[in-house]
Amino acid sequence: QTTTKQPPSPSPLRFSKFFQSNMRILVTGGAGFIGSHLVDRLMENEKNEVIVADNYFTGSKDNLKKWIGHPRFELIRHDVTEPLLIEVDQIYHLACPASPIFYKYNPVKTIKTNVIGTLNMLGLAKRVGARILLTSTSEVYGDPLVHPQPESYWGNVNPIGVRSCYDEGKRVAETLMFDYHRQHGLEIRIARIFNTYGPRMNIDDGRVVSNFIAQALRKEPLTVQCPGTQTRSFCYVSDLVDGLIRLMEGQHTGPINLGNPGEFTMTELAETVKELINPSVEIKMVENTPDDPRQRKPDITKAKELLGWEPKVKLRDGLPLMEEDFRLRLGVGKKN
Ligand code: NAD
Ligand code: UDP
Ligand code: UDP
Repeated sequence: QTTTKQPPSPSPLRFSKFFQSNMRILVTGGAGFIGSHLVDRLMENEKNEVIVADNYFTGSKDNLKKWIGHPRFELIRHDVTEPLLIEVDQIYHLACPASPIFYKYNPVKTIKTNVIGTLNMLGLAKRVGARILLTSTSEVYGDPLVHPQPESYWGNVNPIGVRSCYDEGKRVAETLMFDYHRQHGLEIRIARIFNTYGPRMNIDDGRVVSNFIAQALRKEPLTVQCPGTQTRSFCYVSDLVDGLIRLMEGQHTGPINLGNPGEFTMTELAETVKELINPSVEIKMVENTPDDPRQRKPDITKAKELLGWEPKVKLRDGLPLMEEDFRLRLGVGKKN
């Protein structure tokens, strides 16, 4: 029996690269909050072709409507837990619900998205030689015993709690990224994102900034979950997207913290939203959920030194930008 060996045919990507220098970029989860802002920024560069793969669990085509039909843009309904065969140069891997109410809704699916989804994107990156960036999270630090959190801190995570599908899922995703890097020489980038806010957040997704702004506009009490002294540090989405692109384009694998070091208690946040948006609204204490981290603030020394990045938008400047978007979507008229 004889076998004829075919010469390897050039991949469509390599072939098209021979003629033009466009960068083809896949954004998984690109129909979501951060993803759609990232797509906006990537599309500003005329040398970029952007492909979004999203299953629309928490994202929406609406977030991308200005790009649908654009010759350099493509939108695919795709679940990352299934293999994806396309040709790209870079992958921003964001696909994963980020809000606790959504990632707890189907925890097994959240783990599959983080583990199988990341494995598939790494398999894709390996096959086509693409650089891949994972959007990990400050949740890998769990309920941190070190404050603020540097990247060298290994975290304090409950492996069997209701948040574990997300926290532990992202920790395994980071492990997979480094194993593909060490074992197969993949070019990887890992961002550990801290709480981010801005226009296009789902109005009823339960995250604190979107909750407070929607409540203030609907004239409903702002629900501070007990004890109210727990802290978070909030980064405006344009700053975050700038950090993600710098990380992708830079020379460092990370993990690198991306977040705004300005730290607020949830009571302070409620008071700020009340003052800026609706001074007559009430603030109400409500029950908290299990395993809520008590404090969180990024140490961004690495991002400053290695990426020349630090956030520019202060909370007091970012909240009104988000308020404008929420007023439009909720159909609540302007203040004056
Ligand atoms: P989001 O929920 O708005 O966006 C996630 C997107 O992923 C959505 O469009 C959703 O439909 C899509 N998706 C979910 N599961 C999928 C699957 N199996 N296959 C394909 N698509 C899927 O959340 P976001 O705030 O934009 O977060 C984006 C990324 O950033 C996530 O990976 C999240 O873990 C990370 N992150 C966000 C924050 C934050 O404060 N927003 C903080 C830390 C990390
Ligand atoms: N994969 C993918 N797209 C590709 C190449 C691989 O989705 O272009 C998936 C593949 O289905 C597999 C995973 O990525 O489940 C890991 O692929 P890899 O080649 O690293 O491992 P193997 O297939 O050998 O298990
Ligand atoms: N939180 C709150 N009121 C709300 C929603 C959330 O006080 O209506 C608190 C919550 O207990 C947590 C913090 O805000 O301490 C941030 O919660 P979020 O779900 O926004 O993000 P994560 O817990 O993932 O940081």
